[in-house]
Amino acid sequence: MRSKPNILFTGTPGTGKTTTSAAVAEAANLRHINIGELVKDKKLHDGWDDQLECYVINEDLVCDELEEIMEEGGNIVDHHGCDFFPERWFDRVVVLQTENSVLYDRLTKRGYSGAKLTNNIECEIFQVLLEEAKDSYPEDIVVAMKSDSIDDMNRNVTTITDWVRSWQPTA
Ligand code: ADP
Ligand code: MN
Repeated sequence: MRSKPNILFTGTPGTGKTTTSAAVAEAANLRHINIGELVKDKKLHDGWDDQLECYVINEDLVCDELEEIMEEGGNIVDHHGCDFFPERWFDRVVVLQTENSVLYDRLTKRGYSGAKLTNNIECEIFQVLLEEAKDSYPEDIVVAMKSDSIDDMNRNVTTITDWVRSWQPTA
């Protein structure tokens, strides 16, 4: 049993996971774990995928690395996928969603183009991460939140921070 909740932030790249979850971590005094950075720093991967332009995550190594602190609680996990984390780790799963044209601008600003850009826009159109979250976790802990504007972000940070403050461990 943990004394503080664990929250997963997921969503298509560019929807605002890192910005939003870092703000929640700060406001609610939780640990922010960016899986992409963890994988790179601790080399929890099986090399670089030239086609997808990302590391091939070693999911077992990531789960082993995090098991102990997830049992402790008080973590925010920030990642664009969610199907390989144990279901029991999370008390809340937040799926951020962004309108296509807004997401397109954010990703081009980040330097995405070609297949990488198209794949991510399609991922958002088909709500791939929301479906993945619903398939991987109980529906009542999965919440989709709009993340188009700074107002949306501020509202999401407040909503989740309030939720953390009112969270009670269940036996
Ligand atoms: P992710 O971690 O999901 O890839 P980021 O948090 O890195 O997304 O955000 C991508 C970019 O979009 C950043 O420049 C960030 O400041 C901006 N951004 C994220 N969410 C919002 C939002 N709700 N409104 C306006 N800009 C946002
Ligand atoms: Mn990010």
